[in-house]
Amino acid sequence: MSESDHSIRTRFAPSPTGFMHVGGVRTALFAWFLARKSPDGKFILRIEDTDQKREVEGSADHIIRSLNALNLNYDEGPQVGGPYAPYFQSKRLDIYRRWARQLIDAGRAYADPYTPEQLDQFRDQAKLNKQAFLYRNHRPENPPAWDGSQPLRFKSEPKAYAWHDEVYGDLHSGPEVVDDFILIKSDGFPTYNFAHIVDDAEMKVSHIIRGQEFLASMPNYLNLYEALGLERPIFATMPHILAPSGTKKLSKRDGAKDVLDYLSEGYLQEALVNFIASLGWNDGTEQEVFSVEELIAKFSLDRVGHSGARFDEQRLLWLNGQWIRRLSLDDLYARSAKFWPETATGVGDGYKKQVLALVKDRLKTLGDLRSSTSYFFATPEPDWGMVADNKQLNRVNQAELKRLLAQASDALQESDFTPQALQNTLDRLLQSTGQKPAILFSMVRLAVSWAPFSPALNDTLATIGKAATLERIQTAINS
Ligand code: GLU
Repeated sequence: MSESDHSIRTRFAPSPTGFMHVGGVRTALFAWFLARKSPDGKFILRIEDTDQKREVEGSADHIIRSLNALNLNYDEGPQVGGPYAPYFQSKRLDIYRRWARQLIDAGRAYADPYTPEQLDQFRDQAKLNKQAFLYRNHRPENPPAWDGSQPLRFKSEPKAYAWHDEVYGDLHSGPEVVDDFILIKSDGFPTYNFAHIVDDAEMKVSHIIRGQEFLASMPNYLNLYEALGLERPIFATMPHILAPSGTKKLSKRDGAKDVLDYLSEGYLQEALVNFIASLGWNDGTEQEVFSVEELIAKFSLDRVGHSGARFDEQRLLWLNGQWIRRLSLDDLYARSAKFWPETATGVGDGYKKQVLALVKDRLKTLGDLRSSTSYFFATPEPDWGMVADNKQLNRVNQAELKRLLAQASDALQESDFTPQALQNTLDRLLQSTGQKPAILFSMVRLAVSWAPFSPALNDTLATIGKAATLERIQTAINS
């Protein structure tokens, strides 16, 4: 099977343990790209909820909401159904039992008769003998019939393996790593090791894309594929995502957030997809900003690197800024609703859109709107501390600055406040006062905004309007 086959079926198979971290999203994304590259490729969502102790309530919904928010639509899975439903492993217990029965009948699975204490003893003994612990060294001679109350173990056939991984290349292992692992636990639920193989076969998955943590178990999986008479799918192992330091695996403590949190902070879905796709993948050129269509067209597993990719939130921020500037004003405005300052509530769309057009180029996230646009919606309090902190303005005394403001006010009275008329007024004012723009314009800018940054002065004044501008300048003079 090759990537260009028309039978590409990939899956994202998360465990509902509460958090949609970037590593998980990257796995989903790469599997999704692969399916979308092929005209009739299918992307499947399967919830692997067989470890009841680790399950966090609501996280399956959280996963689905995250995929939807990133526009990673799936063709088969919870809510949408599909030919191999159900897509929650906890609802497929009969299927695993049927496959387990097949292994028992073939003499390839047995009931584990040991108590956890006995297994601990075996383990301790192996340690004392300085040997690796293997269950298969303790296979019971006459195992009891499996009645579901004992764990069901796979009876492995140790051998050396060679296999191909689309990312890591040709890999091999010796027989010593193949062991008798648990297929079905004593609580009746299958292990991941068993259930994913059954489901991938039932669901006709062509490519298994998953994290590096499963690589060490590959020899066991290969042994089980053989015992079940299954053809191997294509494997692609994703290297770890590294912490910003580049020296260890990324964890929650490194500040990497849940994808829905990034979205609610004003990161754009396009930027997140672009960023996460670039964690360990590139197209071999210098291009950094990719649309999702380009990613689908250009993505290939053989360009996924096998050294870990570093998580760099500054890069995400930069990409987000790029995407903010790429979107049309209308599109960006449609997404901005949740991010305006409270004082903008009830203000008309036309005005807010005008403000957005002005500040767009400076925004890194939509969340910046709250702090960077407040003076467009409410009269700011004069704060002469900002003048004191300004390297140019703090060289001029306050009385002189207020005199400049008074001159500005007089000139602005005459302006009809279109951006062009304002530019002419401001240019004339520079000449008549003999001041530098860094003094005159900075002072007028502060007097109307009392904010560290604002867009071009003429545009800012035109948007705030004549009455408010003159009033704010007067307030500054009186303060
Ligand atoms: N349920 C596994 C996990 O969440 C999935 C591994 C796989 O994709 O096969 O880590």
